[in-house]
Formats: sequence, structure tokens, C-alpha cells
Amino acid sequence: MAKRVFDSAETLDRSKSQQNGPGLSKTNYVDLKPDATTGQTVRTLRVVGPYLEYVDHSSYKRDPNNPKERIKVSFDDAEANKSFSRICNDEDKDNCYWCQKGFAAATKFAWVCLERQADGSSVVKILNKGKMLFDLLFNIEKENKEINLQEPDSGLCENLGGEVAPWFRITADVDKGPGNVKYSVGVFPKQKAITAEEVELLKASYCPTPEEFEQLYAAAPKMRDAPVWYSYGYALDRIYKYRGLKDNAQSTGTPTVTTPPADLEVSVSVDSNDDTNDAPALNTTPARKATGRKAADVTTPAPVTSTNMYVDDDSDTASTTTEDPDEDPGW
Ligand SMILES: [Zn+2]
Repeated sequence: MAKRVFDSAETLDRSKSQQNGPGLSKTNYVDLKPDATTGQTVRTLRVVGPYLEYVDHSSYKRDPNNPKERIKVSFDDAEANKSFSRICNDEDKDNCYWCQKGFAAATKFAWVCLERQADGSSVVKILNKGKMLFDLLFNIEKENKEINLQEPDSGLCENLGGEVAPWFRITADVDKGPGNVKYSVGVFPKQKAITAEEVELLKASYCPTPEEFEQLYAAAPKMRDAPVWYSYGYALDRIYKYRGLKDNAQSTGTPTVTTPPADLEVSVSVDSNDDTNDAPALNTTPARKATGRKAADVTTPAPVTSTNMYVDDDSDTASTTTEDPDEDPGW
């Protein structure tokens, strides 16, 4: 649509944004697959802003002969869409093609983050996993909240994506056979304010256009009062959006198909959702272990390592808590 533009920066931003496919085309996920040789992968991260919670369908359905089991099936549009999963229309499940067809669903989370590289630089990525991993992060915030109630001066971070927050390290280990992953999270003791450089890095990755900001604020009014960089990095709301069945021809009697614009042809789940795609663990339900927190140096926040057995997102989880031997890396 033709329009008068009063600020050329808007045009520059738009052309940059289109080049990069509005925060979508170069989608870069934190890779937490355990290294094939060592059986372990370690990532150092700082999350940014609010995370996105959504429901994801995997290519499993209940076994009609044994309702406790799930069987692997293909998505009806597997030819047209190679993604491992399909986003649920979770606000209107009656109009979710994948719900209606009985595809297994699990809650997932996506969080924009900075990932520290070996050379000390940072890269903007998306941390995209299920409850196994994210509960470890949520528990850090919860425990800090509880401590702050007792000790109001402790100043512990209650919002890992906020202005002042610690970096943390996620370790993914192979656990009891291929396909099973055990995550642990160790928090660096020092909390750091996000730097102007980091904000610039996020902005360079993706900055919403004025129209996109308005859409974002309409959908999530709290974002209007949040720091502007909460919206930088990636257009999470657009990436994790219900799109229905991809091939219109197959959609007889099914809900309206939303065909994404070309720049949305990003695979949301490749290399990012290995935790629900690991079929062997689907029926594992280990016993829950007691969690606890070791006493640590009283002058610094207790570094926490939580270990979560990887099982299906719908299952119970086991977790242990130990002290993280890591020192502050100094940055
Ligand atoms: Zn659904």
C-alpha cells in the first residue's frame, strides 16, 4: 500500500528487516544436542525479555489398541512442510487442525537469548524447549523470589530476562541410551545489567517496525511498559504462530488454512525440538526425587545446578540439585 513516510529511518529499518526476513529467515536456535563424541554439550546464555509459551503438536497419536502408548504417524502435510512439529491453535482448539486430528500436544517455550561464543562474543539465538528444561529456569526465579521474601536485601534476580540478570550455563548430557537427554543449569553468581552493546546486538538481529510494535502491544499490553529491547532479537509471536494445514488441497472439511508469506517459510522446529521428538522416552516415568539447595557462600547467590531426567513433556520429572563448582567467568 502506498504511503507517505515522514521518517526515512523507517524505510531503512524496513528494508533491513525484509532482508533478514523480519526476524525470521536466519532463525538460529541454541543447539542442545549432546555432542556425538563426548556425549555432552554446554551453552552459556543470558535470556532476554519475556518468554513465549505455546502448544506444539508432534507427529504422534494415541495407539487405538493401547491408549497408554503413542504411535508415530506422519503429519498430513508432511510433504509440503518438513518441520518436526506443528504449532497448535491453542486459543481455539476446536479450530486447530492438529487437535482435531488427535496429534499429541505438549507445552513448549521459546526465549530470545544471547549465547556466549568461545571468543567471548555473543550471538542472538532462540532457546526453544519443553518443560524439562524451562522448569529448571523457572525454578531459579521461584527460589530467588522465596529468598527475597526472607531477605529483602539479597537482590536476587526474579526475572532472568530482565534488566539485571545472571548468565547461566546449560549442560546437556546423553542419559541412559540414545535420544534421552539430561539437562542441568548452573547460574553464574554475578548478576549483570544488560549492556548497550548487547541491546544493539539484539536490535540488529530484529527490531519490529512501528506497525509490528503496535500489533505486539495490542496482543500483549504489558510490553508497552517494558524496555523496548524486550521486543528485539526475534519475532517470536510470528514464528510460533498457528498455520493450519499447509497444503490447501488436502483441507476438505478442515479449518481455514493460513498460508504464510514467503518469509515465514522457516522451520520452527528443526534442531530445536529434540526433546519431544525423542520417541524412546515417551513412556518413561521416573520417580520424583526430593529437591534441595545446598548452603553456599552467604555473600553470593547460591549457584544452582538442577538436573532433570529427560522424559516426555507430559510425564513426571525427576530432578536433583547440586552445587555448581563454576566460578564467575569474569565478564
Ligand atoms: Zn492443537
